[in-house]
Amino acid sequence: MERTYIRDLGSRIDQEVKIQGWLQIIRDQKKMQFLILRDRTGLVQVAHYRPSNEEIANTISSLGVETALTITGKVVKNDIVKLGGLEIQLQGLTVENAAEIPMPYDPFDNDNVPAVDFRMDWRYLDLRRPDNLLIFQVQTTLEHAMREYWLQNGFMEIHSPKILSSPSESGAELFQLDYFDRKAYLAQSPQFYKQMGMAAGFDRVFEIGPVFRADPSFTSRHMTEFTGLDMEMAWIDSHEDVMAFTERWLQYAYQQVKEKNGEQIKEIYGFDLQVPEVPFPRITMADAILALKEVGYELPPEKKGDLDPGGERALADYIKKKYNHDFFFLIDWPVQVRPFYHMYHPDNKNLTRSFDLIASGLEIATGAQREHRYEVLKQQALDKGLGLENIQFYLDFFRYGCPPHGGFGMGLSRVLMVLLRLPNIRETVYLFRGPNRINP
Ligand code: ATP
Repeated sequence: MERTYIRDLGSRIDQEVKIQGWLQIIRDQKKMQFLILRDRTGLVQVAHYRPSNEEIANTISSLGVETALTITGKVVKNDIVKLGGLEIQLQGLTVENAAEIPMPYDPFDNDNVPAVDFRMDWRYLDLRRPDNLLIFQVQTTLEHAMREYWLQNGFMEIHSPKILSSPSESGAELFQLDYFDRKAYLAQSPQFYKQMGMAAGFDRVFEIGPVFRADPSFTSRHMTEFTGLDMEMAWIDSHEDVMAFTERWLQYAYQQVKEKNGEQIKEIYGFDLQVPEVPFPRITMADAILALKEVGYELPPEKKGDLDPGGERALADYIKKKYNHDFFFLIDWPVQVRPFYHMYHPDNKNLTRSFDLIASGLEIATGAQREHRYEVLKQQALDKGLGLENIQFYLDFFRYGCPPHGGFGMGLSRVLMVLLRLPNIRETVYLFRGPNRINP
């Protein structure tokens, strides 16, 4: 018999079906036994009249919650049952994999939710909850929509190497590894290699792939390994072209999530997903500093030219009040806080043609027009005190015809945090990697 998903049982009244899933609740009474079975589409009640089959009755009595079961039975209407007004009269039962008793914890016991670190140890149990399942259904929709929009707009997908012979950006936050008889490094971003696609004449490229950062900090928004959403586009006039693309691309992804998962988000997380309107507001760093002064937010002195997370949030409140928008581009960052490959403003050599995208007070992306003129780029690297030997292979991209271009890098889990209003990045990622965690 073919499997029926629980959400489809309503159309199978009075028929025999096979359902498969996890035993979420068991009520073992004198005459009747009730099982609540869960699959990824919902819950259903299964009823078994004890005297009808003593052997099955004894098996059911021995079951622990979260056991994986295959059940056959007849679907009947029963108006007093809360779960869809129907139940299944059990005919056959196979225990596919019994859950040991006791479990490390019951993921459905809402009165006893263990600390996040303990739940991480048993992540596959944690993920059985519908609110967690939904995060990854939304992630799937999101990534699919992003890819789709890129493909509709002439982008090609690339996969750049993650094992590098030299740091791709700066020496900080770099994981080093033994590579046969020498040292190698894990890629901190696909930056150099996506730019190589521009020199290769690919015009528009994107990559969705792992990014590694040896960042020892413990925050609610950093991981040592995360999935980066990266793109680069050629023949642009300025960073404005990149921002104009980015906001439409993100709007499309939100639209798709609203269409496919909006109802469930409302049901489980209790809010209506808002698709952001374009254009997103843009504010220069210079104006941002003035705005922060105006609202009385003091930036830490060591953050000269940069923003701290508190500043990002204060600015987000300011933008929300002024433009009623949850997203904004913070543009024209000072040279001293940006990497050497960002293009400088032609009329102000202290500023870069760059942006951060802030969503609900959280930085979700950094982008820029890149410097594509070899001599200028080389000088900018020297000005930042970089040794040229390690990056000569990269500088060479710009020696034999490379178009003007720009792009951004974005963290997938940060987008999910914002979209689903989740406070901690650990809850939004399949398996978290941090300074203290490389298991399971
Ligand atoms: P932050 O200032 O938040 O540490 P960053 O300036 O180091 O970020 P970039 O190097 O510009 O970040 O990386 C681009 C994007 O990648 C960021 O906007 C963010 O969405 C994501 N990102 C960066 N570092 C991490 C991290 N450690 N964990 C998760 N996502 C990250």
